[in-house]
Amino acid sequence: ALYNSKTTARGSVTVYSADHEARIRSERAIESALQCADIAAEFEVHFQPFVALSKQTIIGFEALARWNSPELGRIPPDVFIQVAERTGQIQRLTIQLFCKAIRQIETLPDTLRMSFNLSAHDITSHETVSRILDIISERKFDPKRITFEITETSVIGSYEAAEACLKRLQDAGCRLALDDFGTGYSSLGYLHRLPIDCVKIDRSFISCLDDPMTGGVVASILNLCRSMQITCVAEGVEEAAQVDALQQLQCRFAQGYHFCPPKPFADIKQSIDETGTI
Ligand code: C2E
Ligand code: CA
Ligand code: CA
Ligand code: CA
Repeated sequence: ALYNSKTTARGSVTVYSADHEARIRSERAIESALQCADIAAEFEVHFQPFVALSKQTIIGFEALARWNSPELGRIPPDVFIQVAERTGQIQRLTIQLFCKAIRQIETLPDTLRMSFNLSAHDITSHETVSRILDIISERKFDPKRITFEITETSVIGSYEAAEACLKRLQDAGCRLALDDFGTGYSSLGYLHRLPIDCVKIDRSFISCLDDPMTGGVVASILNLCRSMQITCVAEGVEEAAQVDALQQLQCRFAQGYHFCPPKPFADIKQSIDETGTI
């Protein structure tokens, strides 16, 4: 790696990496591109199915945001979501993405569900929650078909506000999922403190299921969730061997490249209309 050193006024030497500088430069570029982005034109929602392992039938789709910036090209969602949070743009982004996603999913058979990711700011903003609930009722979409995915890290720091907002979504009939389960500090703690209906077992566990220790952890997550009547979805399933292992552990739902990658809505719609599957 490239390193530069700089002597400060006090004579001490700070070492910083060129990588770090480049990252900051590109964050500034992302910030300004996002500030003047035409969300309706530049953003898209892709959908990835999640399936019931027993018959490998599609239960629903997770909505995943995509940004193709005219200036910067494709920016990954975990990058632009963070920037949007930091620069106060997350609310308009979330609302427009949710609206787009609903308008697409509503054209599919009404047995299919939709999962939508909410960020830290979203789940502490009563205004965002109100807008989301308005969209659901304006579109006459059945709230019971929607799951909002949140992470433990987005709850930390403003637990009380998050609890109140999440309760409003749940009272309206929507379900709540704890995403990236097992990667945080106290995933278990949040399971009984928050009104969680579903956990998504993080990909890092699924990719080493053949390790006995990891297999054991996943087995206990599944047992715990069963006893709390919480649904489990295994994330990031890439191989047939992982499907077998999950079935042995009596995991019922899964998502991952093995079944289908996230795709533009047109692709999803076409295969459902033509074949009833993906
Ligand atoms: P996530 O919610 O954990 O979403 C799952 C990520 O794993 C997605 O990445 C998906 O494309 C990827 N994935 C799915 N199956 C596989 C697999 O088999 N193997 C591997 N290696 N990866 C798989 P993506 O689309 O890049 O999204 C990254 C993160 O950005 C998401 O993680 C989520 O936290 C965030 N995100 C995406 N869209 C939105 C959004 O609309 N709102 C908010 N707040 N966050 C979003
Ligand atoms: Ca998610
Ligand atoms: Ca996840
Ligand atoms: Ca994530």
